[in-house]
Amino acid sequence: MKTELKEMLASLNSPAEWVGLRHVAEDSRSFQVRDERVEAVNQGISEGVMVEVLVDGQFHYSATADVSKDGIARAHNRAMALAEFSKGWSLAKFSLDQRPKAVGSYASKTSQTLDQLGMQELIALLVDSTKAMKTSDEIVSRVAYAQNAVTNMTYVSSNGSEFDQTFSHNFSHLSATAQRGSDVQTRTNGMDVSQSGYEFFDREHMTAESVRIGEQVLELLDAENCPEDTRDLLLAPSQLYLQIHESIGHPLELDRILGDERNYAGWSFIGLEDFGKLQYGSDLLNVTFDPTVSGELASYMFDDTGVKAEKEYLIKDGKLLRGLGSLESQSRANVPGVACARSTSWNRPALDRMANINIEAGTSSMSDMISSVEKGVFMDTNKSWSIDDYRNKFQFGCEYAKLIENGEITKTVKNPNYRGVCTPFWSNLKMVGNGDNFEVWGSFFCGKAEPNQVIRVGHATPHCLFSDIEVFGGAR
Ligand SMILES: [Zn+2]
Repeated sequence: MKTELKEMLASLNSPAEWVGLRHVAEDSRSFQVRDERVEAVNQGISEGVMVEVLVDGQFHYSATADVSKDGIARAHNRAMALAEFSKGWSLAKFSLDQRPKAVGSYASKTSQTLDQLGMQELIALLVDSTKAMKTSDEIVSRVAYAQNAVTNMTYVSSNGSEFDQTFSHNFSHLSATAQRGSDVQTRTNGMDVSQSGYEFFDREHMTAESVRIGEQVLELLDAENCPEDTRDLLLAPSQLYLQIHESIGHPLELDRILGDERNYAGWSFIGLEDFGKLQYGSDLLNVTFDPTVSGELASYMFDDTGVKAEKEYLIKDGKLLRGLGSLESQSRANVPGVACARSTSWNRPALDRMANINIEAGTSSMSDMISSVEKGVFMDTNKSWSIDDYRNKFQFGCEYAKLIENGEITKTVKNPNYRGVCTPFWSNLKMVGNGDNFEVWGSFFCGKAEPNQVIRVGHATPHCLFSDIEVFGGAR
C-alpha cells in the first residue's frame, strides 16, 4: 500500500504547502453466545483514505472510501476547496512543525490467527464458557462474547513520512446474571482486553473466569448491601482503570481544556496554568502516557500525525507535569504534551486522545495494603460511572466488594459505590501496589468529538489504597 500511496501523492501535484495521505483498513469479527446458544457472528470491513492539506497555516481534510487514484484526487480537490473557503477564518497558525517526518513500521505481537484457532473452536469455547457459568438455577442469563479487530494504517506525506502500523485488538466479555425475588445481580469479567492475536481467547483462562463469575454472582445474592460511611477504599485495577480514564485522562486533554469539546464531551477543571504547578494527588501518584509498552490497547510507534511515541510522565510524585495534547494543541496552549493525535478511522481527523495512561507500580503487596486497614472495603469491577462536565466530581459503582475489618478481608457486600472529587480523592492515595498486583486493562469505547470518534485506550495499574472515601450501598 505504501508504494501505491506514494505514487498517488506524487500524481496529485498539489499546490498545498504540505499533503498527507492516511489509508486505513479494518477487519473486525465478533461472536456472541447466550445461554449456550450462538446469538451473533458478525464481520465488519472498512477501508478508506484521509487526505490532509496544509494551506496558509491551516490544516484541511477530506476523506474518501474510493481509494482509486481518481477518488483520492477528488478528495484532495475537496480539501483544497475547503482551504479556499476557510481563508480569513483561522484561529491559529500551523506549519510543518506539526507534521514531523516519520519513517518506520509497527505490528502487534501475535501468535495465532482465527484460522489457526478455528472459528468452530472459538464458538465452542464461548458455548462452554456460558455452560461453566451455570452454577445454580438462580442464574438466569449467561453471555460470552469475543471480538478481534485487525487494523492496517499506512501514512505517507509530502515531507517524506512513510510508515505503516498493523494492530490486532481483542476483547472478551463474560457475564452472569442471577435473580432471587426482586434482587438481580450481574457479575462479569469486566471486559478483558489486549493487543495480541487469537491466542488471547485462551480456554483455560476463560473457563476459570466463567466459573469465578458464576460463583461470585451467587455470593452477591446472599450478601448485605455495602455500608454507607467514610472508610478506606482498596480498588482493584478492574475499577481503577476507569477511575484513571475519567478523572485523570479526560481532564488532561488539552483540546478539552482549550474548549474544543465544551459543546459535547465537556470541559475540564484543569486550567493551562496548572501544568508544572498543581499537586494532583499524593506524592505516591505517578501516572505515565506510554504507547511504547507492548500489548496494551493503545501501544503504537507513531501517532496519526507522525509523532514518535514516547513514554512521558503526566503526573510525577503527585505533581501535574504535562497534558494530553498533540503538536497542534501544544502550540495553541503553550503547554508540553505527548504523541496523542489519533483518529478512530480513515474518515475522521486526528485529535487529542488518551493512549495507554498507566499508574506506575509502587512498593506495596496486597497483604501490606489489607493488613494496614482497620475499617475499609475492597471494590472490584466497574458497574456504573458518573462524572460532571468538568471531570471533577464523580460517583462510581462496582459489581463486587468485600469488607476489610481489622486488617483482614471478611464478608462480601453487594451494590458497592463510592464518590469523590478529583484532586482530594487522588490526594487520599495512601498505598500503591507493586508489580505482583499490577494488571493491564483498557476500553474499546472511549467516545469524544463531533462527529463522534470511539477509540481504544489502555490503562494499566496496580491495586491502590485510598483513605477516608465516602462509600454507600445501592437501592434495596
Ligand atoms: Zn473516554
